[in-house]
Amino acid sequence: MEARAALLTEQPGALSFGVVDVSDPGPREVRVRTAACGLCHSDLHALEGALRTPLPSVMGHEASGIVESVGSEVTGFAPGDHVVACISQFCGACAACARGETWLCQRREQPPLVRTDDAPPRLTHDGDPAGQFLNIGGLAESFLVHEHALVRLPLEMPLDVAALLGCGVLTGYGTVVNRAPVRPGESVVVIGCGGVGLSAVQAASLSGASPIIAIDLHDHALELATELGASVTINASFDNPVKMVRALTGGGADHAIEAIGFPKTMEDAVDMIRPGGTAYLIGIAPIPSTMEVSAFRLVWFNRGVQGVLMGANHFRRDIPALADLYLAGRLPLDRLLTERISLEEADAGFDAMRSGSLGRSAVVFD
Ligand SMILES: [Zn+2]
Ligand SMILES: [Zn+2]
Repeated sequence: MEARAALLTEQPGALSFGVVDVSDPGPREVRVRTAACGLCHSDLHALEGALRTPLPSVMGHEASGIVESVGSEVTGFAPGDHVVACISQFCGACAACARGETWLCQRREQPPLVRTDDAPPRLTHDGDPAGQFLNIGGLAESFLVHEHALVRLPLEMPLDVAALLGCGVLTGYGTVVNRAPVRPGESVVVIGCGGVGLSAVQAASLSGASPIIAIDLHDHALELATELGASVTINASFDNPVKMVRALTGGGADHAIEAIGFPKTMEDAVDMIRPGGTAYLIGIAPIPSTMEVSAFRLVWFNRGVQGVLMGANHFRRDIPALADLYLAGRLPLDRLLTERISLEEADAGFDAMRSGSLGRSAVVFD
């Protein structure tokens, strides 16, 4: 099956647009007609060369759609199902999966979640094999994944906002709800108010956190954070955020969430927590990069520093829960999806992301 797709052919590089051939599903695979695919900073990292991917690769990984066909051994999905893809696909058999930490699956890049080397490729471009960024490749009219990369959605859930559940929203929400978890009345700081940070703000609000302090360099992002539940905002281009958070919380926050991926703001997050508090680092930092923390203060103030991958999610539990919250009017995801664009506008979408655009853009297919 042919599909228009946004490909990366060199790193660093820009997107190029072409047609890929998407093969029929293997026994455990599902082919999905893409409805929408959000643009995520991880894609931008790949465009800039900081995150390696096989070349060429179809980019995109925050995708929703409608099941078009399923492999002979697939029992959990049928054509017509509405689904969201998640990069936290799981094998179900490795040590991490056995511990119940499926988001840390050690075999995400191995068969059966990807095809064996001697099997025909899932995708070809001009007759040559093409890769799928993070094993999804959602910036195409259809994508083909192992069934363990998908979860079914209620049919009432709009597929464009649903796409955001697969990565950005799940990461912000899961950090607050799964990893911390935040309790009513606890203070939460969120550094960086893009799609991930704003999702953390929303989840902190749902969890009854107080105060919820949002930090960004852009006033428009902070206004949106306020609408989504932040009680205090700090524009870090004018104010010293560490001093302000300490003053606002009487010595430091219970939880500080860094949702950008800059070593400097990660260090700030550690300096913003109270004795015994925890800083969660959830933005993807460039490789290589290092951060400095005071070894003395870490011990003396009993500080916790916790990296969190993909919101420590169980996406087949969390994404339907998020969809239910949205449908009940308690999670205004529409406010995060600030721009709907065509596939060919994806490059411009990444340019806007570089300049600190508001919320999340998603490519929406007809
Ligand atoms: Zn992502
Ligand atoms: Zn596994």
